[in-house]
Amino acid sequence: PATLGGGAPSGRVRVAVRLRPQNAEELEADADFADCIELQPELKRLKLRKNNWDSDTYEFDEVFTEFASQKRVYEVVAKPVVESVLDGYNGTVMAYGQTGTGKTYTLGRLGDEDTSARGIMVRSMEDLLAKISPETDSISLSYLQIYMETIQDLLNPVNDNISIVEDQKTGDVSLPGATVMEIRDQQSFIELLRVGEDHRFAANTKLNTESSRSHALLMVHVKRSISDGDNDFSPENRSLLIANLRPPMLRKGKLIVVDLAGSERIHKSGSEGHMLEEAKSINLSLSALGKCINALAENSSHVPVRDSKLTRLLKDSFGGTSRTSLIVTIGPSPRHRGETASTILFGQRAM
Ligand code: ADP
Ligand code: MG
Repeated sequence: PATLGGGAPSGRVRVAVRLRPQNAEELEADADFADCIELQPELKRLKLRKNNWDSDTYEFDEVFTEFASQKRVYEVVAKPVVESVLDGYNGTVMAYGQTGTGKTYTLGRLGDEDTSARGIMVRSMEDLLAKISPETDSISLSYLQIYMETIQDLLNPVNDNISIVEDQKTGDVSLPGATVMEIRDQQSFIELLRVGEDHRFAANTKLNTESSRSHALLMVHVKRSISDGDNDFSPENRSLLIANLRPPMLRKGKLIVVDLAGSERIHKSGSEGHMLEEAKSINLSLSALGKCINALAENSSHVPVRDSKLTRLLKDSFGGTSRTSLIVTIGPSPRHRGETASTILFGQRAM
């Protein structure tokens, strides 16, 4: 399939929209409503009905209908990012949308019983593991949650307030307090994701919140040792290689997969105290993210990363030689038309 970008990263954010299939409840409840969304995948267009006679049309880099397979979504949205990470660039794949529209399904689905259902995290690791050389290269990862502007370690819940450190010279972002685990095979990766999910559930129960109220980030470091000229069979190069005189080059790339907090607006009337603080914190980080993505779309030299932990963490993965894919997820129900419209607008502003 066509992919979102190819060649060298350009800094521009690639945006795809994915529609979740109707669930049983919606099938029943929305039977009397006219569909509010019409997709034209071959034109990469989405039409959102405004009223009986009028609709707004939006264009995306890719439009996935409710029939799009996990495999195809991976190949179009994430695979180009994974490939540029193998080439030593930073890359990010993010899912944005209302709770229940398929962010976690798209990114985090493990697919134990049914491998065709596996999501972007598992497929990315499978590709990474297949392409590296185990003797010289390494893959390691951290798994984190950002809740109320606090970064928590999902691999070791004792680390519940991790700080972000930025290299003054290179601008590289690191998290010295976070657990880093080396990954050698797919099975241990899936086990780790499961451990992370369990810890996330436990932490959120303790904090009396739901996973939709926090961002989950999987951060994968890929280090490769590339002998420059490995494919150069000229006599001079061969003698250098044989004599081991050519130092290998180290290529470092970072892949970040972000399952964002639900984008739904929390109604002020119903929220107070803790709920209101939670809502404010989510709004803060999602709007900070929106501002950064808009700045990238406009090719602005100033990307305002300072406003939230989420954007500070993503700083060295924004723009320049980094590759970013955003997948915005929407549901089919006309009852959520307002939320769907605001999700679509977030995606449009990123382009
Ligand atoms: P979110 O993470 O955005 O809150 P989920 O990924 O948990 O949403 O999806 C909500 C429900 O819809 C889940 O039961 C999930 O399995 C189902 N679902 C989401 N996307 C799809 C899809 N493309 N195909 C089939 N089921 C889906
Ligand atoms: Mg989710």
